[in-house]
Amino acid sequence: MFCPECKKSDTRVLDSRDDTRVIRRRRECLRCHYRFTTYERVESPRLKVIKRNGESEDYSRDKLSKGIFLAMEKRPVSQAQIEAILDSIEHEITRLKTKFISSKQMGNFAISKLKEVDEVAYLRFLSVYKSFGSASKFQKEAEKLTKDKPI
Ligand SMILES: [Zn+2]
Repeated sequence: MFCPECKKSDTRVLDSRDDTRVIRRRRECLRCHYRFTTYERVESPRLKVIKRNGESEDYSRDKLSKGIFLAMEKRPVSQAQIEAILDSIEHEITRLKTKFISSKQMGNFAISKLKEVDEVAYLRFLSVYKSFGSASKFQKEAEKLTKDKPI
């Protein structure tokens, strides 16, 4: 990191603040003692999503976010929690070290995360992403979920 004043690279970090998507660092130049701030943004993974019809599109955090947001509608979940879900889905995707992911696989990541956070949102998302052929399949999933729960 170069000092914007004297252009030397001897700077030190005074303070870091991590705000989920942006990390803010307060820096000081060791030569001229000029103080400045830098921002680091967490970049979403660059990959293609292969849709069911075989078409591919660029992965979009916004799009995934909208799907999750819809599933979470009127649920007691904060925006920060939704961001955390997105972060952890992206983390899973990054771990695959792939440039392509099927929409089904991405849906499965979302489903497993939602299941941990909110059961109603989980079922809503499931109904969209697994495209249930009939209402009875949806009912079965709902029953399975109820059985898992200790009474
Ligand atoms: Zn300097």
